[in-house]
Amino acid sequence: MLMTGDQYIESLRKLNTRVYMFGEKIDNWVDHPIIRPSINCLAMTYELAKDPQYADLMTAKSNLTGQTINRFAHLHQSTDDLKKKVKMQRLLGQKTASCFQRCVGMDAFNAVFSTTYEIDQKCGTNYHKNFTEYLKYVQENDLTVDGAMTDAKGDRGLSPSQQKDPDVFVHIVERRADGIVVKGVKVHQTGSINSHEHLVMPTMALSEADKDFAVSFSCPSDAPGLFMVYGRQSCDTRKLEDGADVDLGNRKFGGQEALVVFDNVFVPNENIYLCGEAEFAGVMVERFAGYHRQSYGGCKVGVGDVVIGAAALAADYNGASKASHVKDKLIEMTHLNETLYCCGIACSSEGYPTAAGNYQIDLLLANVCKQNVTRFPYEIVRLAEDIAGGLMVTMPSEKDFKSDLVCGENGETLGDICNKYFVGSAVCSTEDRMRILRFLENICLGSSAVGYRTESMHGAGSPQAQRIMIARQGNIESKKQLAKNIAGIK
Ligand code: SF4
Ligand code: FE
Repeated sequence: MLMTGDQYIESLRKLNTRVYMFGEKIDNWVDHPIIRPSINCLAMTYELAKDPQYADLMTAKSNLTGQTINRFAHLHQSTDDLKKKVKMQRLLGQKTASCFQRCVGMDAFNAVFSTTYEIDQKCGTNYHKNFTEYLKYVQENDLTVDGAMTDAKGDRGLSPSQQKDPDVFVHIVERRADGIVVKGVKVHQTGSINSHEHLVMPTMALSEADKDFAVSFSCPSDAPGLFMVYGRQSCDTRKLEDGADVDLGNRKFGGQEALVVFDNVFVPNENIYLCGEAEFAGVMVERFAGYHRQSYGGCKVGVGDVVIGAAALAADYNGASKASHVKDKLIEMTHLNETLYCCGIACSSEGYPTAAGNYQIDLLLANVCKQNVTRFPYEIVRLAEDIAGGLMVTMPSEKDFKSDLVCGENGETLGDICNKYFVGSAVCSTEDRMRILRFLENICLGSSAVGYRTESMHGAGSPQAQRIMIARQGNIESKKQLAKNIAGIK
């Protein structure tokens, strides 16, 4: 059953999710002005799936049930599926200019599905069946799941078992006949509060000494002992201002990250997908990270499309669109953005089937994709700020532009003064000029910068994590041999 966006939002109200923000427990978090844009944004993954014009990208036929499901709950069955995933993410980036959050679950499904198959083959465990049954439940109910990987990690120089406080990594604190009890946290979890479920994976490759940290499981967002603390964003309290609109830049949509706390959460046996098989932690991490690095070749490109459009509009509204340097900057932004898309499509096209049957992306190309994402959006934003001009950060507030307060000698209001002096080209109203500049402020420096800039740096792993993978996958020895062959070195 595919939910509509509204049905998804209503389904969140049925959960007893425990949320904290600004030192308080937030009971009606679904309607909270700071949180709601991230819920609206995720709701678009439901809304577009209901729109026939996007059915090919947004939905797929489940290989588990034969039913039509949202692509966010799909196990990729071909390289074509992998490419459609990237195209779907670009589409959603274009429609929201934000992080729409649901991809972490999709990437976790695909990583856990193939890894559990291989664990069962080697260890005789039952994880793959557990996970397959769970995924059917997710698909049938069209659920959103937070794919949770990043632990707090404490002292980065120490392994999990060497930490003074082991809780800085999620770990098993008790093994019972009917399940396990887990404790610890996952940090900066995208879309975690507005997910129905959490699918937890280890954060890194682990050795036998750290086997209590080699744990993967799922649980509902309102499981006893689970609670979340909302991560604040730059300019977030603007959303609390009365009648806030223009000053928000992106009034409707936003991203969301939270601290997810597992305070002795019980997980029944059927929801366990890894429990002590330390040698498989690294495989699970590498696959999830690979998929999520592919994802950035879609979502960030879609947001980039909106940034480029906004910069071009700012140039129009400033009356500067005919300047050759402005045209050239827009070309450069497009070149950078499409290069990211090329990477997303390339690692998908070079995908291959896993032993479990779902498709994995090309790891080297996915890591190159994400490495580029740690750089190009920064340059795109730099060029957007260059084109927009300083007004995007010095303009008076929306309240001033709308004020009736008389302040001029001839009875002009504060609003009259602002609207008179911030006029741009005749093609736009002063308000439209404000709107596009505030949008650029929001995406370059405000709350949406979390999703477009810093998430481009650290989401799906910080740059160094990709460099390690590029070193591992780059095969320098075979390249040396190529040079030897041609240079005549024996
Ligand atoms: Fe999806 Fe991109 Fe957000 Fe990750 S950063 S959840 S890939 S939109
Ligand atoms: Fe992310």
